[in-house]
Amino acid sequence: MLLEAPSHTFGLARETMPNLSQEIYDVTIMGTGPAGLTAAIYTGRADLKTVMFEGDLPGGQLTQTSEVENYPGFERGIVGMNLINEMREQARRFGSEIHFAMIKDVDFSQRPFTVNLDDGTSFKTHTFIIASGASPRKLGLEGESLLWGNGVSSCATCDGFFFKDQEIVVVGGGDSAMEEATFLTKFASKVTIVHRRDDLRASKIMQDRALKNPKIEWKYSHVITAVHGNKQDGVTSLTLKNTKTDEEYEFPTNGLFLGIGHTPNTSIFGEELEMDDEGYIKTAPDSTKTNIPGVFAVGDVQDKVYRQAITAAGTGCMGALEAEHYLAELFDGEAAAE
Ligand code: NAP
Repeated sequence: MLLEAPSHTFGLARETMPNLSQEIYDVTIMGTGPAGLTAAIYTGRADLKTVMFEGDLPGGQLTQTSEVENYPGFERGIVGMNLINEMREQARRFGSEIHFAMIKDVDFSQRPFTVNLDDGTSFKTHTFIIASGASPRKLGLEGESLLWGNGVSSCATCDGFFFKDQEIVVVGGGDSAMEEATFLTKFASKVTIVHRRDDLRASKIMQDRALKNPKIEWKYSHVITAVHGNKQDGVTSLTLKNTKTDEEYEFPTNGLFLGIGHTPNTSIFGEELEMDDEGYIKTAPDSTKTNIPGVFAVGDVQDKVYRQAITAAGTGCMGALEAEHYLAELFDGEAAAE
């Protein structure tokens, strides 16, 4: 069976799907961002039978950024998609299968676990690594998606450098928006925070830091109703609306950073998997172990603080090593019982 790749696979090669239902995998990885791919490189290299599923954003958030300049090993930076493709090929070199398919749900109640795909296929796996990431919340405006990666971003650490001496708008009133705005003042000539209410949600310390920063200006009780620009020039202006007066006007700017939160991609899991109030998967301290033995969570799906490609890759490595230890104990136990 050849699964159709989603339209936004950025030229990633399609693979023929084997008859999965015949297989019992040692490791199944949900998500092919840096966390999942690093896990696959390690489990494949440890000779564990590994399968990965791309989900609806193959390669994860890195494929949405242009240049990645802070991933170690690339002195001159590397295009996000190219970095993912390198990791992908590395994972495949060690034998990991990578498929375009959506995981519908996983039955953790019996071992090996049963993974059910959207197309009705099911197969078994001894361990399951969740690397499905988190998606930045978006405003839902046409110009926002059109100019994503061309002036619209949700990652100041990744893209701030490209806005040297330019004017930027950050939207949101939480810790992410304060942190992004403060960070962006290192590059930008001016950062304007647009927040829909007149009360900030951010912690006091983060608010104070932003409020004290002379390069930050504020537009409280404002929403963005349109993003203007083109792919060549990037963002040129926004339409802002004052929610108290309903007045709408054009606001020139060179960039828009979204700081309105992320949503972890955990909706397919039920109450059996422990999550926090926002849906991030809880893991044991200094570990990627979830509350279900044999299930590990790596990358942005369990990290709402750092959210970097390199930290995601780091936890991907941890998850793989922990899966390897778990399987060694499982197989030793089975051998002793025979
Ligand atoms: P958040 O706390 O949920 O804040 C999101 C902000 O965006 C809120 O101000 C919200 O407005 C606004 N917003 C949401 N949807 C919007 C929309 N459609 N249009 C306009 N504005 C919208 O998210 P976060 O700031 O990403 O923080 C998430 C968690 O990570 C928090 O627990 C935070 O403390 C933590 N975090 C910590 C750090 C740190 O310690 N260094 C850094 C970043 C994040 P309202 O206020 O009106 O709801």
